[in-house]
Amino acid sequence: MSLIVQKFGGTSVGSVERIQNVARRVVATREAGHQVAVIVSAMSGETNKLVALADAIGGESPSEREYDVLVSTGEQVTIALLSMAIHALGHGAVSFTGSQMGLRTDSAHSRARIEHIDADRIRKVLESGAVAVIAGFQGTDEQGNITTLGRGGSDTSAVAVACALAADACEIYTDVDGVYTTDPNMVSAARKLDRISYDEMLELASLGSKVLQIRSVKFAMQYDMPIHVRSSFHDGEGTWVVPEGDVMEQLVVSGVTYNRNEAKVRVADVKDTPGMASKIFGPLAEAGIVVDMIVQNVSNDGSTDMTFTVPKADHERALEIASGLSASLGDLRVEGDPEVAKVSIVGLGMKDHAGVAAKMFEVLATEGINIQMITTSEIKVSVVIDEKYTELAVRALHQAFVEDGAEEPREDS
Ligand code: ASP
Ligand code: MG
Repeated sequence: MSLIVQKFGGTSVGSVERIQNVARRVVATREAGHQVAVIVSAMSGETNKLVALADAIGGESPSEREYDVLVSTGEQVTIALLSMAIHALGHGAVSFTGSQMGLRTDSAHSRARIEHIDADRIRKVLESGAVAVIAGFQGTDEQGNITTLGRGGSDTSAVAVACALAADACEIYTDVDGVYTTDPNMVSAARKLDRISYDEMLELASLGSKVLQIRSVKFAMQYDMPIHVRSSFHDGEGTWVVPEGDVMEQLVVSGVTYNRNEAKVRVADVKDTPGMASKIFGPLAEAGIVVDMIVQNVSNDGSTDMTFTVPKADHERALEIASGLSASLGDLRVEGDPEVAKVSIVGLGMKDHAGVAAKMFEVLATEGINIQMITTSEIKVSVVIDEKYTELAVRALHQAFVEDGAEEPREDS
């Protein structure tokens, strides 16, 4: 008998009818002879409503502990309703909050990390033949305080539970059919991938595609847990996220993504001496600002410049901090530009193909798009461009690499 973990996101449990649909799907899996543990999100919009309530109460520094007590309640509603819906179909189901199931986290409220899962209680329920219905997104710390795992955290709960139970697979049911080669809302020729490696998925997830919470993919990778991302509205196969060795068709480019959520900061006239980078980026790190791309120029006349990107929400603060360093570090020139976008191509096959970056630059040049910054990793090339060309760049790159270039055979190294 196999053990399947199924996770249903907010849209999939967004109404009573939808919860009843989920119950039917869970029961069908159970009747097919599998043990089933289900992880659910709050009904769609509920977590946002709870966050808005906290904001409405206001106060100088809202207690992080109470924030988690509040926002974790959305999932508690869903586990109860889904369990009742399964009972109505004549099957056993037992609901678990994070605390009841023994999901232990650290004490970093609203962004807690999972430390340990005591899967015994769930296992007993599964062995009795019932379905375990588990609240995603929540756990408790050592002192028993309720914690939450960050927005979208139910994905991580699901994969972590699957790993703790040594499940055969973790199915993530969502409102899209799977992982696409690019945003299907932007490019109608986007196609669903059958399989994708953990590494590619991590790049895609961190580059702004919102199908899975990044940490869930890291968990899966660590434990080799296959994830099946699929639609909760029909039965079709979705996308399997699997170890690299299980991806047969290693595409040169399997995805084109974009992120409009970054802003650019340029610090010019930086003295070209040891320690300058740490003096500039140290204070940004202390302020909790996450810097993404960094480009430093070769020095010219003993000075250089550094350009980097930060989340748009931190742009003003990053500019203030960098400008504030001017006095102690010599006259720095600080300029910002929030109207940028990062566009990236990702693919395992890049590892053993030459000329992928060159082709990307050529495609952008043909469209008359100026490249402001470039970074690369083994399986990714990213560029920063003027935000207004985002769609044009994504369409052109998808056309060149996925629609026209998909046939390219893989050269084994
Ligand atoms: N309900 C939480 C959220 O909206 C967790 C999740 O859905 O994954 O972020
Ligand atoms: Mg989600």
